[in-house]
Parts: sequence; structure tokens; C-alpha cells
Amino acid sequence: MWTTSNPAIEMPALFERGADTISFAGGLPDLSGLPLTELAAQVSRQLRLGGRTTLQYTTPHLASSLVPAVAELMAMEDVTARPEHLVPTAGSQQGLLAVALGLGNPGEAILCQTPSYPGATTAFRTAGLVPVSAPSDVDGVDPDALREEVSRLRADGRTVRLLYVNPTFHNPTGATMPVPRRTALLEACRELDLLVVEDNPYGLLGFDGTTTPALASIDPDNVVYLGTFSKIFAPGLRCGWLATPPALTATLRSVGEIMTLSPSAFAQAILAAYHGKHGWDGLIADFRAGYARRAALMTSALADVLGPEWDWRQPAGGFYVWLRHRDGTDTASFEGAAAAAGVSFVAGRHFSVAGEHADGLRLAFSYTPADRIAEGIRRLGKALSPVEVA
Ligand code: PMP
Repeated sequence: MWTTSNPAIEMPALFERGADTISFAGGLPDLSGLPLTELAAQVSRQLRLGGRTTLQYTTPHLASSLVPAVAELMAMEDVTARPEHLVPTAGSQQGLLAVALGLGNPGEAILCQTPSYPGATTAFRTAGLVPVSAPSDVDGVDPDALREEVSRLRADGRTVRLLYVNPTFHNPTGATMPVPRRTALLEACRELDLLVVEDNPYGLLGFDGTTTPALASIDPDNVVYLGTFSKIFAPGLRCGWLATPPALTATLRSVGEIMTLSPSAFAQAILAAYHGKHGWDGLIADFRAGYARRAALMTSALADVLGPEWDWRQPAGGFYVWLRHRDGTDTASFEGAAAAAGVSFVAGRHFSVAGEHADGLRLAFSYTPADRIAEGIRRLGKALSPVEVA
């Protein structure tokens, strides 16, 4: 049953609290580089030439015109797309709920990399699953500690069959799981009979243009992969996909159909038409360059203002910088000072799976205008400084 005690996902954080507040809270993409005039022409063309088809209901299969476009994206992270095992979603958020409803049973545990994207843990809880922290370090989930945790859970009589991870440019830490860790983790999951749910919205947003092989490229038959156009095109189209192990495709396709009846043929047609004309490279390169620039502005400003009590790492891609207070202070205690200084962030407790990470703090550099970042970090530095006792 839905209860209002389910934590909000990110929506409250998306909107600035006051006109002058500089927000580092919402993980919104920057759409200023989207070629809107060109898109408007394509939308008009789509409507004129195919409107009665693309505005109609369609089947829960990825539009055939979009399959090559998705295959090209997945190939960038070494995944070979199997067209018959692609399932359209209305974005990864819906995909996460579909996975939880289709593959889990109420009361079962789902192991989650920790910290985790709150939209995922909330979706899992909504489906009746119980998120449990998968022991994680800076490189992601630790396979040996995972073995111990799974043994402990099963010895307690708990059923656990799923592991949720966001291995590349992770939300909220920005970290990427190295390849040897990926291989070791996948081996452990096979051994433990755990199916991996790989959430990958940011994988193509490495600042230097390099990519890391997706988990689905290493063990495609034991990974459900979630892809989305939200961060490499536009979230307003609400378009994404699952790449599923063959044994699970029919179930996930049915759950998707139950949830949305039909994917948006129109949104898929717009994406396919854009890809057919321009390919992905130019747009993705522009996104990468824009985010790299903002990340550099943010981290150089952070280096100037943060004291030694804050631990943080330079992001190599994605949307986020994660700070940790070395003394374990709950960062929610800085929210009032931040609001007073005119800046916002998301406190670590929102990313916790089981109460941990209150000492963390997420800053999104993706959406703040470049010329406001230094000023925002100056305000943040003021808000996070130890209070001087007179
Ligand atoms: N997973 C992660 C890790 C995310 O950061 C987000 C968006 N913030 C989503 C899934 C959902 O994305 P969408 O539904 O727009 O595809």
C-alpha cells in the first residue's frame, strides 16, 4: 500500500527554494544545447506524415525504427543488443518499478548498493520489497562482503534474489566501479544466485569520452540493464528501455504493458528520426563537454572553500560530487544555514538504504548555470564552515 511515509524521490529538491537560491539539489540535465528548431521541424514532419500511427496505441516492443539507435548506444559500453529482448519503458524510473513488480515478491529483500538513488529504493519499497544495504566501498559493491551478507540473510530465513547497482558515474557519489570489480561482482552474483539490476543513466557521460563496459556486456544473461534517454536527450520524452535476459523478457514486457498499456510511439519516433539524421555522437559530445566544464568549475571552487573536515573526490563523469564529513556529522544539520546563505544541496540521509550515509552530501553540477557555480559554492562554503564560537 502506498503511504506518504515513503520518502519523496527528488522532486522537492528540483525546484529552487527562493528566486535567489542557487540550487545544486536536483539532478536535472542541462537542455540548453538541444537543437529545438530542428526538433520542432521533425515533430511537425512526424505529425504530418505519420501522426495517425505515432499518436495511436502501440505494442510493448521497442519501435523497430528505434532499435538501431538503442543498439548503437549500448555498443558504446560493449553490450550487444538483442532486439527481441529490448523492452520499452517510460524512463528508468518506471523500469525500476517494473523490475521490482515483475521479478520480486512482497517481503523479499533486495540488496542495494549503498548509498543509492532514492527513486530506486522507493520503487522497490512500493512493490513490497525490502531494500537491504549491499556492503559497498568507493569502488561499489564488495563481492566478498556481499557473500557474507547474503549468507547472513539466508541463514535468517530471508529470501534475496536481486542486487541493484548503478555502477557508472553513480548517483549520488559519481564513482565508477572498476572492471576487475565488475567481473568479481558478477562471479559472486552467479555463485549466490542473485540477478543483477544495472541502472545506467549516466554511463555515456564520461568527461574524457571514455566508457566502461557495462555489467550487461560481461554477463548478459544474469543482468537486467536499464537504459534511458533522460540524460542523453531529454527526460520530458519519458523514454527508456530494458535489455533483459531472454528468460525474463516476457514477464517484464507484460508488467510494462500492465503499467503503461503502451509505450509512446510518438516519443520513440522523434528519437528515431533525430538519430537517423544526426546519429548520437554530436549530441553526446556536447553533453559531455558541458558537464565537464561545470564539474571543473564546481571542483575548483570547492577546493578553495572546503575545510579539511570534508572528504570528496573529483568526478570523471555524470552529474554529481559527493562530499563526506569526516567527523560523521549529519549533513541535514547544515540545511538551515544553506537556505539562509541561498544555496541548496541534498543531504546524504536521502540516499541511505538503512540509515547510513547521513554524513554525505550530494551536489549536482548538471543544471546550475555555469556563471552561478562559483558563487553557489562560496555560499555553500559559508554554510558548511564550523560555527565560530565568540
Ligand atoms: N536511476 C538513476 C540512478 C537516476 O539518477 C535517475 C534519474 N535521476 C533515474 C534512474 C530515473 O531516470 P528516468 O526515469 O528519467 O529515466
